[in-house]
Amino acid sequence: MAKNKTVKFKFVGGKCKAPLRVIHLGKKGNMIDLQAVNTDVVLKFSARSPFDTKQVSISDGDTRTKEVENHGIFAYSLSCTKCKRRGPKSATPPQFIVP
Ligand SMILES: [Zn+2]
Repeated sequence: MAKNKTVKFKFVGGKCKAPLRVIHLGKKGNMIDLQAVNTDVVLKFSARSPFDTKQVSISDGDTRTKEVENHGIFAYSLSCTKCKRRGPKSATPPQFIVP
């Protein structure tokens, strides 16, 4: 069995961030460990989700393991409890890609 791919979300420089704006999740059936490092984060998929839910909440220090279930390009918004106010939406939201 391949090791799960890990994606860490972190509050740094005044906002929460994914390690890369575009993250390849690999193949359908892969297991992904989504980790919140120093804040509680919520991922919301605007349209479709690569997983079984359109929203994923992760508490500070926790890991949510999700299975990749869909192919496509999935834009999402990231928010967390440390971001005091919602900034303007980025013109280029972060994405997961499942080729
Ligand atoms: Zn945040």
